[in-house]
Amino acid sequence: MDTGFFVAWIEAAARAVAADRERLTELDAAIGDADHGINLDRGFTAAREALAADPPATPGRALTLTGTTLIRKVGGASGPLYGTVFRQMGTALGPAAAATPDALADAVAAAVAGVERLGGAREGDKTMVDALAPASRALSGAVRAGTAIEEALDAAVAAAEDGARAAIPLRARKGRASYLGDRGIGHEDPGAASSVLLLAALRQAAR
Ligand code: ADP
Ligand code: MG
Ligand code: MG
Repeated sequence: MDTGFFVAWIEAAARAVAADRERLTELDAAIGDADHGINLDRGFTAAREALAADPPATPGRALTLTGTTLIRKVGGASGPLYGTVFRQMGTALGPAAAATPDALADAVAAAVAGVERLGGAREGDKTMVDALAPASRALSGAVRAGTAIEEALDAAVAAAEDGARAAIPLRARKGRASYLGDRGIGHEDPGAASSVLLLAALRQAAR
């Protein structure tokens, strides 16, 4: 997976976030402050522009630039967290001209570890981690088993969807939704929903 692959991922992510901007914002209206879709759309639009203005030479650079742009433009809780996802991936991929499936799986694992370190959330706290962590495990497991990257990413998306769905009946223990206590039960976490979108965009880039 070369630099073009990762730029295609960010472009697909920007399109997906723009298309689902209202849905993400409505999810956040129910258990937060109704800005998640707006925040991410602003951030991914800026990331796409940054990649076009300063074409990256390596996958690592594409991801690091994306992460830095998200930190600057998204704001809220999700800006630094998604910024960390992409910056950790960029650091993990280093200066290589292309990423192997193993390197991609390890980079996603580093991203999840970075989010958990920064936000202090664990699986079951009803955050983006509930989608990202199982997706990372599914990706690593499939890649280690020798599964083709397309199918490994299918498994990662399915695991993220399952994780986001499994968090619906939970009570949030991190982020704004945690202020609601039991009133957040029954609602889907907006960050878990956007993590599903980002992984589906990654899958799309591999087509
Ligand atoms: P804000 O809550 O500041 O308005 P957003 O609405 O953009 O930020 O993002 C909210 C999402 O961020 C939540 O749905 C949740 O998935 C995620 N989130 C919030 N706090 C944390 C945390 N400590 N760890 C992981 N994810 C978190
Ligand atoms: Mg919000
Ligand atoms: Mg906010």
